[in-house]
Amino acid sequence: MKQILASAERVVPEYQFVWNNYVPKKVGIVPWRALMERLPTRIALAARNVDIGDIRCVLCGDYDESSEHLFVSCQFAQSVWLVMAQWCKSPPVIAFSLRDVLDAHKFVPGSKKKKKVFGAISQVVIWSLWKMRNDVLFGQAIPSVSKVVEESKSMSYHWVKNRSKSSHWSWSEWCNFNVEL
Ligand SMILES: [Zn+2]
Repeated sequence: MKQILASAERVVPEYQFVWNNYVPKKVGIVPWRALMERLPTRIALAARNVDIGDIRCVLCGDYDESSEHLFVSCQFAQSVWLVMAQWCKSPPVIAFSLRDVLDAHKFVPGSKKKKKVFGAISQVVIWSLWKMRNDVLFGQAIPSVSKVVEESKSMSYHWVKNRSKSSHWSWSEWCNFNVEL
């Protein structure tokens, strides 16, 4: 019995995705599904024997499209993360996995609320990247870093402001990331 308990304690717990109520569920569901390998990326579809032909990422055209690639290692995503970090006046996100991206906010110095706002913004970026990917794949949009950046800024403003009860934040303060956190 002792042995069983001891071995059970050594089991590494599954990564716990933290839902962030500063953003709607439809936003959180994208990173959650990505973590669970439940997003219909081109690699995931090919693995399910869905014949889709090309499995390369539509945002960069260079690598196969997995969730990790789309949101972490893709040059397109990296450009978005870089611009977003500059906007938030935070150091660039160094991430090797989706978990790193989703955990980055935990290391932001400052209040609990600040960490939560940063976490919310990260989830909005992932949601917006997935949206851009779908617009390119199904709507013939041209991949645009600035479009994802602008959408992430405006939608995070809208959602975080309302949901965190920070109604005094103005759009121009948000654009300069000059908000009390
Ligand atoms: Zn790519």
